[in-house]
Amino acid sequence: MIKKIIDRIFKKSPAQKKIAHGKNFHPQKISKKHHKIDLSLVSKNAIKVTQVLQEAGHDAYIVGGAVRDLLLGIAPKDFDVATSATPDQVQKLFRRSRIIGRRFQIVHVTFYGKERPEIIEVSTFRSLSQQEEGHVSASGRILRDNVWGTQAEDALRRDFTINSMYYDPQSEIVLDYHGGIQDIERKMIRMIGEPSQRYREDPVRMLRAIRFSAKTRFTIEQKTAQPITVLASLIQDVPEARLFDEILKLLMSGHAWQSLLGLRQLGLSPYVLPLVNKIAADEDRLAFVSQALKNTDARVQAGKSISPGFLFATLLWHEVIECWAKYEAELPTVPALHAAIDEVLSSQRAFMGMQRRHEADMREIWSLQLRLDKRVGRGPYKLIENPKFRAAYDFLLLRSQLGEKPTELAAWWDKFAHSDEIQRQELLKQVKEEQTLSNANPERPKRRRRRNTKKTPVEQKL
Ligand code: ATP
Ligand code: MG
Repeated sequence: MIKKIIDRIFKKSPAQKKIAHGKNFHPQKISKKHHKIDLSLVSKNAIKVTQVLQEAGHDAYIVGGAVRDLLLGIAPKDFDVATSATPDQVQKLFRRSRIIGRRFQIVHVTFYGKERPEIIEVSTFRSLSQQEEGHVSASGRILRDNVWGTQAEDALRRDFTINSMYYDPQSEIVLDYHGGIQDIERKMIRMIGEPSQRYREDPVRMLRAIRFSAKTRFTIEQKTAQPITVLASLIQDVPEARLFDEILKLLMSGHAWQSLLGLRQLGLSPYVLPLVNKIAADEDRLAFVSQALKNTDARVQAGKSISPGFLFATLLWHEVIECWAKYEAELPTVPALHAAIDEVLSSQRAFMGMQRRHEADMREIWSLQLRLDKRVGRGPYKLIENPKFRAAYDFLLLRSQLGEKPTELAAWWDKFAHSDEIQRQELLKQVKEEQTLSNANPERPKRRRRRNTKKTPVEQKL
């Protein structure tokens, strides 16, 4: 009876039911000769975790995105381990470990090395019913016994075939339940199960499809892509904080530009980042944002850090400029800028779960733009000591790349920041002389119209 209810709630197809018990389902076993994973790309700590678990009699594999990346010859950015051991059993085996999460517990095992600490996320094989988190709350009691499952069930509840492979670094065998390896070869993102149903269960999977496609340059299989255009609005049901996290993942993936193209092509942008449509409709905004995201992608790909505050400061900069012009009709420049910043931030707050600390960073980056114009007296000395100077300078650099500010201004600040006292005095003197000569008044940035510049093919696509 109980099983019937559960089946009804989660609408398992007969095939899924058969698989769910894991008895009739055997993975494809792929040997090193075929998969050619380079063990040197595998985290020593992840190997250690699987080894300790296996020696204690449990099954343990590296799983998910790490296996996908290893098969593509990319060094994974983090490693997840899936095991038959329960969270309590895992925690007892590792000194520096802690259980996190309440209903669906996972264990974080931390390793301290020469570089920054590495966290290996260990999760117990989950049963199918685990995936529908939203549905579980009402009937949580019934499902409690069903929390953990077999490896076959665990594979079935994952999103895409390329994300559902298990790698044992000891035997160097990959277990593939859903044809992930063929999809890697065919360069294809394919949903496990019935795509519409899987998107309804968790609409974030639509964003994940786009992110992985941008990252791997794989095509999203037609059957997997098509329902996105129909179900895009379901994204609105995702809790704000989770949605914001996913947007950040897209923007900080090192493939932000490609991801935005994907959002637009599949009709998701109005629900995820309505701003994208506005950006696409305006040449100046498009040029600014595309340059910003390309710079960001290059930084991420070079292993450099980027900050969410900076990213959103670039996405919203032209909103600020527009609003600033409006307030300048009634207020002096500085208060007008602050009023514009307040308005833009609060309009975003209405739909995005942006954390306050990111907002504070954005506010600082934008308001420092005015101070970067003023190169007199003690101002520049104070500014280079400001913790946000670097971010504000990078922002100025971006503006100068787009012709919104003279490149000499950015170059001046770079010199000033890296000079000794005598050179700094000299630099300040030069500014004074130039200003007396030209009597220039470089205050608010003027919107630059790019009339004669040709769009690049990528811009045309967005
Ligand atoms: P990356 O870490 O490179 O962004 P990933 O595939 O490892 O990609 P994670 O969010 O770390 O993504 O998730 C780890 C694994 O958990 C995934 O590979 C997938 O198997 C599973 N998973 C994550 N999110 C979902 C989801 N929303 N639905 C189904 N399975 C998921
Ligand atoms: Mg991962």
